[in-house]
Amino acid sequence: MRYVRTLIVTTLLSVVSNSVFAWGHTGHEVVGAIADKLLTANAANKVQEIAGISLQSAAKWADCVKDVAPKDGVFKYTQNPKYEAPCREFETSEGIARMEEYVARNSDGCGRSSATELCHKQYHYADVAIQHDRYDRSYAGTSDHDIVSGIKAAIAILQGKPAPAPFSIRDKREALLMLAHFVGDIYQPLHVGAVYLDSFGDPINPDLQDGNLDPKTETRGGNSIGDGSTNLHAEWDAIPRSIKPTKISAKMLEEARSIDNTPGDASLWPAAWASDTLLVAHRAFSGVTYREDLTKPKHWTAEFKDRKAYLKAKNRIQREQLAKAGARLAQVLNTIWP
Ligand SMILES: [Zn+2]
Repeated sequence: MRYVRTLIVTTLLSVVSNSVFAWGHTGHEVVGAIADKLLTANAANKVQEIAGISLQSAAKWADCVKDVAPKDGVFKYTQNPKYEAPCREFETSEGIARMEEYVARNSDGCGRSSATELCHKQYHYADVAIQHDRYDRSYAGTSDHDIVSGIKAAIAILQGKPAPAPFSIRDKREALLMLAHFVGDIYQPLHVGAVYLDSFGDPINPDLQDGNLDPKTETRGGNSIGDGSTNLHAEWDAIPRSIKPTKISAKMLEEARSIDNTPGDASLWPAAWASDTLLVAHRAFSGVTYREDLTKPKHWTAEFKDRKAYLKAKNRIQREQLAKAGARLAQVLNTIWP
């Protein structure tokens, strides 16, 4: 009986924490809300003029478009009951048309196979092996349509330059919606760093292997690594409940304000940010070992040296990363519109 009750409570808690507090929408809103507060007056005016909404709202858009799917050869948006509240503001007839068009223009053209995700879904991440200390376009898990390339393309459009293929970005509004989301993603450690595992569960470096990348070694940003009822990626997406987009603490804002600007030309920043996050990903994977579990769809099971300490460290890292992402988003917009 006690077991059953514990199970129900645990299940309820996990449902609440997954659906309400994810770096899905909530985390992205936090990043946007921090950036809103750090914009110069000119940049804030430009954001309003171009997007007509705050960065806090804009930051959710690129995930809402994931509910556009091909139906009888046409891309159609279907409201996802799980994301009804966060995506509602994009569900005007003009908003739905924009989401559907964006997905239609950004589905193929990136050389994807039928087994890989639509191109626009791949814009959200890279999978650089954690043995590396920096992002390099020559490494496995990077591409011309990964997160670094996605941010670069959005910045180019906002600077009035063309975006490289395969990106099809209609206008500055679309570029701003993409940028507000992707700068959040690039600071989620498991959106940049990945472990590749051999059949013993030992991490390998795919860039030192001969021949083509063995897809069996991929863990898809931790999505293939189970931890109880959830997986490592989802655990890193779920942010501490104390962090709320509507109430950014003075401490977090101060932290964001104290972050130095990235040096050099803006086109080089996304790779620099990915390198920075890759080092954080080293911490995100430390203290974790992996067991192959072919009976489970997730394929791998995570084992922790000290799970409680791991989750505590995770919360601390997430707080730092959200502050950094907010600061970077403001930095890039303040640079474009000084
Ligand atoms: Zn994303």
